[in-house]
Amino acid sequence: MSASSCEAKLKSKSSSLSDAARSSNDEKRKEKYPFLGKGAKDIDLGECDKFWERVMKKKRGRLWYENGCEFWDNCEATVDAVLGGFGFVSRADAIDNVETLKEIMYKELEVDEMKKLNNKSCLDVGAGVGRVSETFLCEYFGVVDILEPVKHFVEKAKKDLGQKVRNYFQCGLEEFEFINDNNKKEGGGGEKMVYDVIWIQWCIGQLSDEDFIKLLKRCEARDFVVVKENNCRSGFRFDDQDMSITRSDAYFRWIFEQAEYDIVEAKLSTCFPQELFEIRTYVLRRRARSL
Ligand code: SAH
Repeated sequence: MSASSCEAKLKSKSSSLSDAARSSNDEKRKEKYPFLGKGAKDIDLGECDKFWERVMKKKRGRLWYENGCEFWDNCEATVDAVLGGFGFVSRADAIDNVETLKEIMYKELEVDEMKKLNNKSCLDVGAGVGRVSETFLCEYFGVVDILEPVKHFVEKAKKDLGQKVRNYFQCGLEEFEFINDNNKKEGGGGEKMVYDVIWIQWCIGQLSDEDFIKLLKRCEARDFVVVKENNCRSGFRFDDQDMSITRSDAYFRWIFEQAEYDIVEAKLSTCFPQELFEIRTYVLRRRARSL
């Protein structure tokens, strides 16, 4: 399958009629759970809770994830393919990520100092061919692990990044238990994986609300969980090709609230082409539990 036939995570909003114009703040403020969905050709899909009930019912839930992975199995293992033909934004994206790191996450540390310290660990989630690790994470984090369910993407990442990445976990996000089972054969394994940063970029639309919230609750990040994703104008947009949804800003905020996370900052990127959905980076911290 050619890269251009893979309409992937970096989605153009042109196919979404009601996303043609960017949302006004008033419109955003009005939005509340349950969020309303739209599919291809702007067809109404109703409220999100009912939508998830329908698609996750019994065996269908497994199919949702299997079909999603099947789409990616048929995608070329290239940066351009994982970015749906928008490979050219990868450099701007890396610069944007460094800015998030310097200005929001680790303000107190000069970046050079951070590189020198080399003591932070990070998990690159839904890593595809390892683009985010290669262009950004491996440069700033002493330890980087990759989590990605699609075999030939993991293989490509291994080929390009080799020892720069410590662990390659081939697993879906919905089932990853943050346990290192890779060295089970040698009698090891079972080690609980805790990171300083968990970086989730352009992949969380594959997960249902329930699985997204469960993931946030079971992962352990000492410093931050970062979610960088497309935002549609309101509610959600369902893509039946790769079995994913694009959530609005209000929808993401509702999810973080359910999972009991605080938003340190939600940064709207200004470096991407106008024809794309709005892209936000949510820097999150688990809410401190009151005793
Ligand atoms: N984050 C990467 C890749 C984005 S493409 C980047 O920015 O370059 C979306 C990725 O999500 C693909 O690699 C796809 O295989 C992965 N993905 C699909 N279903 C997933 C799931 N259930 N859990 C985790 N990742 C998934």
